[in-house]
Amino acid sequence: MPKTLSSVVLVGRPNVGKSTLFNRLTQSRRAIVTEIPGTTRDVITHPVEWQGARFELIDTGGMFGASQDPLHQLVLERGQRAIKDAELLILVVDGREGLVPADVEIAEVIRKANIPTLLAINKTDDRRSRAGVMELYQLGFDPAFEVDAITERTAHVGSGDEETAHEQSELAVAIVGRPNAGKSSLVNRLLREERMLVSDMPGTTRDAVDTLITWHRRTFRIVDTAGIRRPGRVIKGGKPEEVSVLLARRAIKRADVVVLVVDATAGATDQDGAIAGEAEGAGSGVIIAANKWDLMKPPGTNSNEFDENLRRQLKFLEYAPVLHISAETGERTSRLFEVIDRVAGNCRKRIPTPAFNQFLAQVTTRHPPVSPGRRRVRILYGTQIGIAPPTFLLFTNVATKFHFSYERFLINQLREAFGFEGSPIQLRVRRRRGKTA
Ligand code: GDP
Repeated sequence: MPKTLSSVVLVGRPNVGKSTLFNRLTQSRRAIVTEIPGTTRDVITHPVEWQGARFELIDTGGMFGASQDPLHQLVLERGQRAIKDAELLILVVDGREGLVPADVEIAEVIRKANIPTLLAINKTDDRRSRAGVMELYQLGFDPAFEVDAITERTAHVGSGDEETAHEQSELAVAIVGRPNAGKSSLVNRLLREERMLVSDMPGTTRDAVDTLITWHRRTFRIVDTAGIRRPGRVIKGGKPEEVSVLLARRAIKRADVVVLVVDATAGATDQDGAIAGEAEGAGSGVIIAANKWDLMKPPGTNSNEFDENLRRQLKFLEYAPVLHISAETGERTSRLFEVIDRVAGNCRKRIPTPAFNQFLAQVTTRHPPVSPGRRRVRILYGTQIGIAPPTFLLFTNVATKFHFSYERFLINQLREAFGFEGSPIQLRVRRRRGKTA
């Protein structure tokens, strides 16, 4: 049964995104301004119906966190009055900035008020914010949820969203591999065969040139194409093999999806393994393109056996789909964009918290967690805290790490249940703090 709340109050220091969240939740451009008795500053309230719950949403604006303010104590008192009658507080914090002293101060006020509190971490759609997010859990408010996850659901209203959709329709793709694997042939093939709109775009670093290709209304930015065309000139010195790893690293940093081109006639080598490790470490989506498949005929060639060997050699990348292609003949190259598109989608996939917890309950009932410690570990609940790569946070009863093999097991089960082909998955484990306020 959906619960009816009388008032939900957004708190947080200025500029963490409270008003954006407020506007999204209320689906309004302009908030209704009323005054809460006892506070001299205006607060903004609006009735909300969200996921079956009805409540009054109150934004406390910049009331909190003005620690530079000489009237600091007064400001805090006002804030305390504003939250006094709340049934639920949402503490909004900034995932990119991580934990700052003002957040801690606000958290203390909240704890004293003894009101249930959710932690909403804003601006997390970004690999850079990952460390900041982990810090914010130190505030001790569980369960946490991400603002992006909420706003995504209400994102159909308003004009600002077209921009986001546009941004997401461009995918950065790195094509990497050893010298002579066929990278440059592949790029040329894609350009020629698909009759796409093509232009060279200057990249962000010197010598980095990107190539834009449009396919079905999507734009693929093949990053660092100059490195593909003339590797020797891009990074001077070093053996060609080493240069290829450096180039790959540089391109991978900028990519949503990595296509690792392997020369099928040679199989995967240590160098391919090194490049695979780079891709895995960066958390990008990965596809393995086994190129020169035209030379792997006569048609008796067993692709299963080939794949098994390949996977043994590139063991980090067991989640990456393998595509057998020929840049020379064009065999299956046109399927590549389809697969890139799908993998990119998997990297940005969000599993709703209820579905994730249902999954956790099922899996852990059958296979309880294994950890190196002596105490019995239980997973209490979990939530997805990020995308690209999908990152899940699990709360446990005791501080622990899972046994390596159990972590792998969970990740594999997640893949099976929700389909994360081509996307790495990260798990974090954290002991649940004392009950919320
Ligand atoms: P790069 O160094 O990875 O960019 O590799 P290139 O694209 O320059 O290709 C190296 C060599 O392999 C060239 O002689 C290509 O013609 C050849 N090559 C590339 N792709 C294929 C393929 O699918 N089949 C065959 N038979 N040869 C290929």
